[in-house]
Amino acid sequence: MEKQLLEFDKNHIRHPYTSTINPLPVYLAESTEGVYITLKNGQRLVDGTSSWWAAIHGYNHPILLDAIKKQLEKMPHIMFGGLTHEPAVLLAQKLIEISPKTLQKVFFCDSGSVAVEVAMKLAVQYQYARGQTKKNKFLTVRGGYHGDTWKAMSVCDPVTGMHSIFKGNIAIQYFAPSPKIKFDEPWDKKDIFELENILTEKQQEITALIIEPIVQGAGGMRFYSPEYLKAVRQLTKKYDVLLILDEIATGFGRTGKLFACEHANIQPDIMCLGKALTGGTMSFAAVLESNEIANTISNGNPPEFMHGPTFMGNPLACAVALASINLLLSSNWKQKIENIQKQLTKELEVAKNFKNVEDVRVLGAIAVLEMKSAVNMAVLQKEFVEAGVWIRPFGKLIYIMPPFIIQPNELSQLTKIMLRVAGN
Ligand code: PMP
Repeated sequence: MEKQLLEFDKNHIRHPYTSTINPLPVYLAESTEGVYITLKNGQRLVDGTSSWWAAIHGYNHPILLDAIKKQLEKMPHIMFGGLTHEPAVLLAQKLIEISPKTLQKVFFCDSGSVAVEVAMKLAVQYQYARGQTKKNKFLTVRGGYHGDTWKAMSVCDPVTGMHSIFKGNIAIQYFAPSPKIKFDEPWDKKDIFELENILTEKQQEITALIIEPIVQGAGGMRFYSPEYLKAVRQLTKKYDVLLILDEIATGFGRTGKLFACEHANIQPDIMCLGKALTGGTMSFAAVLESNEIANTISNGNPPEFMHGPTFMGNPLACAVALASINLLLSSNWKQKIENIQKQLTKELEVAKNFKNVEDVRVLGAIAVLEMKSAVNMAVLQKEFVEAGVWIRPFGKLIYIMPPFIIQPNELSQLTKIMLRVAGN
């Protein structure tokens, strides 16, 4: 049975970022519980990925399952046009309460990429409503990642995002160099000069600046200075450009703050949330915007915002998202993440001396070993699975962002095998 499933999968199902003729191997997962993923063959793996930043409470948390079950029996889905429901209202209230104060309106949508599309459309429609019709390009930094749909892809790093394949179809945006000053290095304002130059020259064309706050995730797992983000906020205000923060990976505690923008003590005009929003149970995202944007669009012509997906505000997703946020806030999440950060820093420090390791970095519940050259993903993945852990490296990076509920001995299992493969 296992063989047949895998054979059919190999022949007919596309997996992320791989070919269909010679796909990267996949493992057959059977069930999950806490920080463990159990494969069909019975093997249990300690999860180091939170399923791509999402499962912050681990898997099958009873509180989340209960929220889903209760909502499932009452009303799994209802259209959002002309109807609303308690889970959506309560979730929106909670998001407004915990996010930066400027953000007062909530748009619920399906996934992170769609949230980025919505955020970019809001920015364009805001400028349109102000009569700024020439402001229709975006500014971002190299090394970013914002999703795989067209407009989101246009602001991903042009090299790692392989813009060359899609030339002619992809919007041309402005790219400043990626921030160079690391999270805890002394600030030097030269780091932002180039970005300011672009703003000075092109402000008439630029709708918004979009950036991942503090952590550049899938584009390279780099942690940059909060001073950079502060400067970005000042400059966007100075040059009349909106600021969109993509907190899809960083939101809900991952960096040690509830939202990464808190490291810089700034407030964006628009913020995207996703991934951990539903505690890793289902795809869902939210875009938060300021009253200034919402009111300007609504006073424009047309006053409607032109977006409204079929599964907008899905009650199941809203109910589990609310339960996940409440669970996070009622746990001593800050302490947990601080402990994880301390342990990761201590256990991985030795890798700084490894000849194949370029850099070791830790922030909150994220740890990265950057190798000097690209790793062989299939080979390493096999080694990880055989050692009883689930870690998914890419490019030169062997990195983890485990569920916050991970215990010290489980975390050590992850770091031990990371050190072993990096030391080879
Ligand atoms: N923005 C960031 C910062 C992300 O890390 C991701 C997903 N890796 C996305 C957007 C896209 O989200 P999704 O995969 O849910 O479309």
